[in-house]
Amino acid sequence: MYTYLLKLGELTLKRENRKGFEQILKHNCLTMIRESGAKLEMINGRFLVHCPEEAAGQVEDALAHLLGIAAWAKTRIQEKTPEAVLRSCVAEARELVSQGVQTFKIEARRTDKGFPLDSYGLRSEGGAAVLREVPGLRVDVHKPEAVIEVEIREKAYIYSSCRKGLQGLPVGTAGRGLLLLSGGIDSPVAGYMMASRGMGLDAAYFHAYPYTSDQARHKVRDLAAQVGRYSLGVRLYTLSITPVQQRIQERAPESWRTVLLRMAMMEGAEKLARYRGDKCLITGESLSQVASQTIENISCTESLVKLPVLRPLIGMDKAQIIRLAETIGTYHISILPYEDCCALFSPLHPVLRGDPTEARYHYEQLELGTLMEAVLRERVVETCGGYRA
Ligand code: ATP
Ligand code: MG
Repeated sequence: MYTYLLKLGELTLKRENRKGFEQILKHNCLTMIRESGAKLEMINGRFLVHCPEEAAGQVEDALAHLLGIAAWAKTRIQEKTPEAVLRSCVAEARELVSQGVQTFKIEARRTDKGFPLDSYGLRSEGGAAVLREVPGLRVDVHKPEAVIEVEIREKAYIYSSCRKGLQGLPVGTAGRGLLLLSGGIDSPVAGYMMASRGMGLDAAYFHAYPYTSDQARHKVRDLAAQVGRYSLGVRLYTLSITPVQQRIQERAPESWRTVLLRMAMMEGAEKLARYRGDKCLITGESLSQVASQTIENISCTESLVKLPVLRPLIGMDKAQIIRLAETIGTYHISILPYEDCCALFSPLHPVLRGDPTEARYHYEQLELGTLMEAVLRERVVETCGGYRA
């Protein structure tokens, strides 16, 4: 049996709400480890995950995708006697040596002041025991390759190789938003960022079938699945925007096409969000990244909607966004070459600084009412990624 110790992140800053946040984190963690056969135990605000050794890989994978924890480590648990604790320090050190580690130090914390060794005593006696029993290890207090941590609480915990958690807040503590998800690099990252602030995710993907392929649709499904690994799943709505694009082509000045299509997507997405009870829209827009994302054109595209539009990438540059996309595992999917509905009919010379009043004038000429109703009626829904609750 292995035990993992979870350290909570920002959650610890919450006061009266803390219990509620912890309950949601517990639910998320349980959902994510359930299939591995692991068990979750809560002691004094600490989370411990116990699992059979053969499930370690599955549990570590789940913890690496769990939002709301600052760090986690595989830990030894001991009775609170100095002998037992020193024995565990030595065992931990042996394991480090077998992994090729040569330098270490011991960090100690003692919340139970009844324990006979204080933190200084734990550090010095622990260090001495390791040096005596484990050849090949040296102490380096400044730049050790490994830190053996000892915590004396309700029990004694001894661990090294503490891994950084994803931080953020547990998904489900901030309601749910509707992500406008394209097959590009940005929108999956935007979804992840809002999930990391505790927001659950629905997603809307507008495709232009038959002008866009089934592969493009599969790609978006794969992106939703990857984001869903962090957000306990994503409910993905696929809507065909083709009739709207055709209407725009027929009735609107060419330079306005992209902005008008974005306005239509926003309007459709807001209707869907209200139907689902989502509290906001989320997009992957980043200021001035492309013509449709100048501040003037953003004003046009959001001028029809009343729900808040969250744009977590607005101040980030492309290199930063790509780095994050790589970290969360969406980049390699996003760069697959399948076409986006917008690319197919984008104007050669798009409006760069649209005026919202003019935008609304052109939009009204489209008379999208019944077309939009049909687009929404014919939506297809599926659940992607995540863990079945
Ligand atoms: P992305 O990489 O997310 O596709 P982008 O750089 O291609 O972004 P745009 O094409 O201007 O930028 O899209 C801006 C935002 O509009 C996207 O981040 C996404 O939230 C939304 N969006 C664009 N196309 C679609 C689509 N086909 N379906 C749903 N949302 C879309
Ligand atoms: Mg795009």
